[in-house]
Amino acid sequence: MTWFNPPYSKNVSSNIGKKFFDLLNSCFPPNHKLHKIINKNTIKLSYSCTPNIKQIISSHNKRIINESSNKARTTKLCNCRDKPSCPLQGKCLEQSLVYQATISETNTNKIDTYIGITENTFKTRFNQHMSSFRLHFKKSATALSEHVWKLKDNKKDFKISWKIIEKSAAYSTKTKKCNVCPSEKYFILEKKPTLNERKEILSTCMHTRKYLLKNAKESRRTTDELDLDGHDGANEIEAVPDDAPEEDGEKHCVVRK
Ligand SMILES: [Zn+2]
Ligand SMILES: [Zn+2]
Repeated sequence: MTWFNPPYSKNVSSNIGKKFFDLLNSCFPPNHKLHKIINKNTIKLSYSCTPNIKQIISSHNKRIINESSNKARTTKLCNCRDKPSCPLQGKCLEQSLVYQATISETNTNKIDTYIGITENTFKTRFNQHMSSFRLHFKKSATALSEHVWKLKDNKKDFKISWKIIEKSAAYSTKTKKCNVCPSEKYFILEKKPTLNERKEILSTCMHTRKYLLKNAKESRRTTDELDLDGHDGANEIEAVPDDAPEEDGEKHCVVRK
């Protein structure tokens, strides 16, 4: 079966269908050797619709969004200078994920866990956590940093290990839904991390914020930068570039109260 789909136009008054089949009959009459495969039964005709303004705009938007997300997507999975000390075993540049931090106290073997999400690369989030562990004024940035400061104040030795629990897609204007936030809530309920607060389950998705018109000029800001923990808007931290060297992340941070 072969289809002929001329685009529909209101301005065309001639009967395209009739003319087309007349052409078929005159060019491939029953005695023609191709009549067996080219006839009214094997060739079908219907109109195709040209895209309307809504489709044109949405495909344009899709292209722009894909370009920017492709640019942001790094092909490398790790940019640590010292590969063995990568916090995620060579996967620190993974994006849009739910992660878990496990803090074990060296002397008592007491273990605490914390679940967090990031829309950006894990490395960016990791650098923010690290600077909140180093800088006293960022002590209450997250429940994790509060715990770390408590251990530091009590002079207790501890180790922190990180792992990805799940990779998910954050809100995009294409899908119009966020999968990272529900995943975080699910894992907080399921894994019952000791450091997360119950109220985090009730938090709303922050990932739509960067698409608001009022944030349009600051397109480089990601949700992580707009809101350090996704829950606590007290400290706003400005962009820590993905490729920032691991050790001096705080130099790039400007905190606005
Ligand atoms: Zn790495
Ligand atoms: Zn979200």
